[in-house]
Amino acid sequence: MSNPANSGINPFEVALTQLDEVSTLIGLDKGLHEFLAHPKRVLTISIPVKMDNGTIKVFTGFRSQHNDALGPFKGGIRFHPQVTIDEVKALSMWMTWKCAIANIPFGGGKGGIICDPKRMSVGELERMTRRYAYGISDIIGPYKDIPAPDVYTGGREMAWIMDTFSVIKGNYIQPEVITGKPIQIGGSLGRNEATGRGLSITVREAAKKLNIDMKKATVVVQGFGNAGQFSAQLVEEQGAKIIAASDSKGCIINKNGINTASLRKHKEKTGSISNYESSQTLSNDELLQTECTILIPAALENQITKGNAGKISAKIVAEAANGPTTPEADKILFENKVLVIPDILANGGGVTVSYFEWLQNLRREYWTEKEVNDRLDTNITNAFSRVYDTHIKHNTDMRKASMIVALNKVVDAIKIRGLWP
Ligand code: GLU
Repeated sequence: MSNPANSGINPFEVALTQLDEVSTLIGLDKGLHEFLAHPKRVLTISIPVKMDNGTIKVFTGFRSQHNDALGPFKGGIRFHPQVTIDEVKALSMWMTWKCAIANIPFGGGKGGIICDPKRMSVGELERMTRRYAYGISDIIGPYKDIPAPDVYTGGREMAWIMDTFSVIKGNYIQPEVITGKPIQIGGSLGRNEATGRGLSITVREAAKKLNIDMKKATVVVQGFGNAGQFSAQLVEEQGAKIIAASDSKGCIINKNGINTASLRKHKEKTGSISNYESSQTLSNDELLQTECTILIPAALENQITKGNAGKISAKIVAEAANGPTTPEADKILFENKVLVIPDILANGGGVTVSYFEWLQNLRREYWTEKEVNDRLDTNITNAFSRVYDTHIKHNTDMRKASMIVALNKVVDAIKIRGLWP
């Protein structure tokens, strides 16, 4: 996975450009625009950790809370060496739009720790995660801010955070403080696959609109982590053929088709998708430019830029990652009639099932997987059609259309609530 920091593009500037463009388009009041350009609160913490070799290492962590007009802040926590405060701020703003589009009663938040989890032991990771949870414990809570997994975090880390929070805040179990937990401690069935499932629903709906026969469609997936794997598997179940994929260690292609279940097994066994049977290797640029029907960027920010957007031949770009396309690239793709299903719509399935998990926890209920998946399908299908209709009505790209839907909702809530004092 290439390094977003090396691209020289600041994700928060990207988020602000998107906000500026759409604010102008809908004639948003200058003051409200300014209000939304700033996160409500950004916390930076130092996280001292006893390392296995006896030394103390101090990590830096963040939690950005962008807007809570519609409900408590909501959004994941990422562990990555290239995390920056501006990246976390951008991601928290995108969460505000994402929750509004998915029609769930949350605002936007995001957290991160600058660290390289692949080079840390489980013990070091646990101590770091618990100390981070302690550091943000006063600003998170079941009705304040509900974190979740993101890049290189998962159920294990969520369990540590839930446990730490529960122990230090009254010493009773509070599963509703965090989502994406393991099933045994209040996680929801269907949450693990939810981002990919939501994405596959948006692809299904887009294919209907564009008259694409999914049985003839070919798919390229950049990034084979949680979102990429399940996105690939679930579009494959619609009949499409996966022809190329990548992960942080390399890119592979096989035009005859790659079976996602067997590629996942290979990755579990060897630690990467490289050297997968009967595949050839290619570069990251070649991967993005591979002729295909559907391109799924599922890695990090700033992958599709003005430098390579013109060479993308896909009919649909469905963003499983957050922020993979820059504003200049968006313009090129729109001119070239590539339908971009933007992150804030395409990957909203994750936070939607997080909402279902939170509801189940608050009510101490357990829903069946079918109930979760059916409700997810209804939410995402409705979100897609609201955005698609807006894109036709305003003759604009799907990202701007998504943001029109989101901004109208958030701004309405701000106006109705009023500004205190
Ligand atoms: N990190 C995921 C996202 O970017 C999930 C957030 C959540 O479930 O709160 O949408």
